[in-house]
Amino acid sequence: MRRKLAAGNWKMHGLSADLSQLTQLVQTHPDPAVDILICPPATLLSRAAEATAQSPIAIGAQDCHSADKGAHTGDLAAAMLKDAGATHVILGHSERRSDHGEDNEIVHSKAQTAAAAGLTTIICIGESLAERDAGITLDTLTAQMTGSIPADIDPDLLVVAYEPIWAIGTGLTPTTDQIAEAHAHMRAKLAQHIGSAAKQIRLLYGGSVKPANAAEIFAVPDVDGALVGGASLKADDFSPIITALGAS
Ligand code: PEP
Repeated sequence: MRRKLAAGNWKMHGLSADLSQLTQLVQTHPDPAVDILICPPATLLSRAAEATAQSPIAIGAQDCHSADKGAHTGDLAAAMLKDAGATHVILGHSERRSDHGEDNEIVHSKAQTAAAAGLTTIICIGESLAERDAGITLDTLTAQMTGSIPADIDPDLLVVAYEPIWAIGTGLTPTTDQIAEAHAHMRAKLAQHIGSAAKQIRLLYGGSVKPANAAEIFAVPDVDGALVGGASLKADDFSPIITALGAS
């Protein structure tokens, strides 16, 4: 039985004052049927962890370095994130892939380091609009999954997020049939890649999830939750998404 996961990615948003959104989430939730994760910017990690300490809300980071320590000015090691209170880390987000040239090999290496530090990795994959239009979405997902996910990763430390690049922050979403096709494909390919533990891996959908479309997306088979950007910044937006997930 896979527990549902509502994960919020605050990206490069959030100052001290925004920790009140977490306090509000703590007060209005948890929904016992849903795991909740917020990934604030690294500057807020330890205070976010303190704000949610007496609650089931977990805190995650948005990236880590592939080395466990060393001369890498400005970067953060997985062990540092864990020390700051993170239990999860997002890896291979399309914005990291495009802004920082991260390819599957780098994401794979980061995932190994993060898992070795005991962080649960949320590995993001997803096709561009050009790849969808060219009819190579599923091939793209296969290549990203097999290239980014270490085949021997501890399955307890793995979550995979399907995030079509063209749906992130655009207000566009795939049809429910397209999401179902992608998730069924991911489950099957994951089984070939990591074995029977693929059954227990949570597959999240991400890309313009909002209170208005959440229930429809969560009704899709093999969607175990969501990775939410813009709509995770305000508790008033994220709460109904969590509720929709709990009801699905
Ligand atoms: C994301 O950044 O992972 C994301 C899905 O963003 P948004 O929900 O804003 O599309």
